[in-house]
Amino acid sequence: MSLVEKVLTPPAVRRNAHKAKLLWKRLFFWPLHAARKPRLSNFAGAPRSTLPIVRLRLEFDHGCGGGDSSLSVFNSIKPLTRRSRAVKGARAFAPTPMVIDLREHQGFDDWAKKVSKLTEGKYRRSANKARRLGYVTRTIGIDSYKRSLHALTASKPRRSKGVVVVASILGPPPSVIDTKAPPIPPACPRHWRVDWGAFRDTDDGERLDAYALLMRAGDVVWVQAFIGHGAALTDGVTKLLMFDVMRWLLERRDPAVEGVHYLVHGYAEEGRVGLFDWKRYFAFEPMLLEIGDAHAH
Ligand SMILES: [Zn+2]
Repeated sequence: MSLVEKVLTPPAVRRNAHKAKLLWKRLFFWPLHAARKPRLSNFAGAPRSTLPIVRLRLEFDHGCGGGDSSLSVFNSIKPLTRRSRAVKGARAFAPTPMVIDLREHQGFDDWAKKVSKLTEGKYRRSANKARRLGYVTRTIGIDSYKRSLHALTASKPRRSKGVVVVASILGPPPSVIDTKAPPIPPACPRHWRVDWGAFRDTDDGERLDAYALLMRAGDVVWVQAFIGHGAALTDGVTKLLMFDVMRWLLERRDPAVEGVHYLVHGYAEEGRVGLFDWKRYFAFEPMLLEIGDAHAH
């Protein structure tokens, strides 16, 4: 509204216009707000103006040709980042990223102890149960279990982020197959995509029961997908997979995880409360993100 308009518009109309704008914002962003307050109350550091601010370095200028991964991570993380460094805290209508600062943990055992404390040992027991039942996890070739993944996605009609309708109704087209290709070490250790699977032997052979897709750009690993088979969830298979992925990240034996500082798993307000609790119990914490590269797109 220009100054002239302001002078010519009666105050009552101006007030109502402001109210209408506020109401629209409240209605539109209500789910975000409704989820935020109770969820963030689990952490010290709320309100969000006091949350730690993390500067990510995606290393766009690495010159490795790993541009696909850095672009995907950038596109995924961008909506979760602070737009302006001039703004204190986070914008009211921006989501709150859930992050593990891997450097805060001495190693895998340190992190696992924290999870056991947060869950009174429940998650560890759940993962142990899955291992006892014969589930094993490993990295797999990219898109090497596409058909299995289709079945896995369709195995549970209702997911924490909504209803998986298409996958449930339509079977996968014949062109979608399991190549079962072995994983190839990433060309660049700092820009990659790595797929993980959890399997168990059945009468029909090995079955994919949980799947994770992780992408790295610079000092951050982004959880692009993390999903379990509906029939195997009570066996603790997703918990087993998470523990094994974290062991890989925190033991740092693989050169591909050297220098990873942050693991980002979406944001606090998304999905049903079960998804949020899953992150919280695995020691993800709300933090504010900035992209620190000078040459960010
Ligand atoms: Zn690179």
